[in-house]
Amino acid sequence: MKPIQMVDTKTQYLKIKNKVDAAILEVLDSAAYINGKAVVEFTNNLNNYVGSKHTIPCANGTDALQIAMMALGLQPGDEVITPSFTYIATTEVVALLKLTPVFAEVNKDTFCIEPASIKALITPKTKAIVPVHLYGHAAPMEEIMSIAKEHNLFVIEDNAQAIGCDYTFSDGTKKKTGSIGHIGCTSFYPSKNLGAYGDGGAIFTNDDTLAAAMKKIANHGQSVRYYHDVVGCNSRLDSIQAAILNIKIAHLDEYNVARQNAASHYNKAFANNPKIKTPFVAAYSNHVYHQYTLQLTGVDRDGLITHLTEKKIPAMIYYPVPGHKQKMFDSFGIGNVDLPVTDELTTKVISLPIHTELDEEQLNYITSEVLNYLNN
Ligand SMILES: *Cc1c(COP(=O)(O)O)cnc(C)c1O
Repeated sequence: MKPIQMVDTKTQYLKIKNKVDAAILEVLDSAAYINGKAVVEFTNNLNNYVGSKHTIPCANGTDALQIAMMALGLQPGDEVITPSFTYIATTEVVALLKLTPVFAEVNKDTFCIEPASIKALITPKTKAIVPVHLYGHAAPMEEIMSIAKEHNLFVIEDNAQAIGCDYTFSDGTKKKTGSIGHIGCTSFYPSKNLGAYGDGGAIFTNDDTLAAAMKKIANHGQSVRYYHDVVGCNSRLDSIQAAILNIKIAHLDEYNVARQNAASHYNKAFANNPKIKTPFVAAYSNHVYHQYTLQLTGVDRDGLITHLTEKKIPAMIYYPVPGHKQKMFDSFGIGNVDLPVTDELTTKVISLPIHTELDEEQLNYITSEVLNYLNN
């Protein structure tokens, strides 16, 4: 059996090696390392894939979120509602810009931000909502957009874990996550569903003014060279990563299907086990399984992880400490935030290996070892 990894980027690379290597050599040969042809081509392909009006490539997903928040003209002290149960990047940029993170509760089934919690947290200072499509499942965007409209708030989608996910509105229309809010952000970190071989990110918007503002911010606040209109940053997707991503985007749907197939294998094996809750998929979303995350009840989670580690099966806790319990936010006046669902999820979740290269033998081995531990 092949060794089991949380993500197997190497085996995936070997299947497209010829194309990727040739594309990298082409960039080296062109010497257009920055903003070369590959960046333009990939940006256009990504824009078409997501179905956005504008796509702005940038250096990573964290920058994408930061540039989005900078473009909205938010002022220090403005409140931004985000889930507490997310990767730190989402809330870190809020704090970095001296905005106030306001931690909302998540849904116990989807792990995504709960609209009722958003509503309860809106104050006159609230300016934006940042839903996260966690683990590859969409947040309830239709409800979130209607709350935002009613209260005149911006919505920035954190789509770092859900590129390719389809959202279905109540009238039956479908959109890709990342193209629904005022701004969408994504990451091409190597382990993401569309992963580069280094860092990368992108920002989506259908708004011409915001697109121009974000393009400028990502380029030192200039649209004419050496004339800096606003304080910006330096955030670029480099040509080599763009060339790699341009090959990989053609495989993205197939990659997401491979993840879904691995997830169905797990789901079947774990069905009807009272100690395991398999991932829920809401009617409005499909699931692209950036993570395959179970909720355990009545199981010694550390014991299970030790057992799996002994059997050479990796497993991870995403995320052990939610935002509202992170020391970094102590000075942000967050105080006694009460998020019981979030707190409970941090004690129950476990993520099993999920990627495009898992085979039947590996999946059978993983599921039988999980069940062995649970049944003993
Ligand atoms: C990965 C990730 C990011 C940050 O992306 P980087 O490219 O690593 O900066 C932001 N939000 C979420 C939810 C992520 O998973």
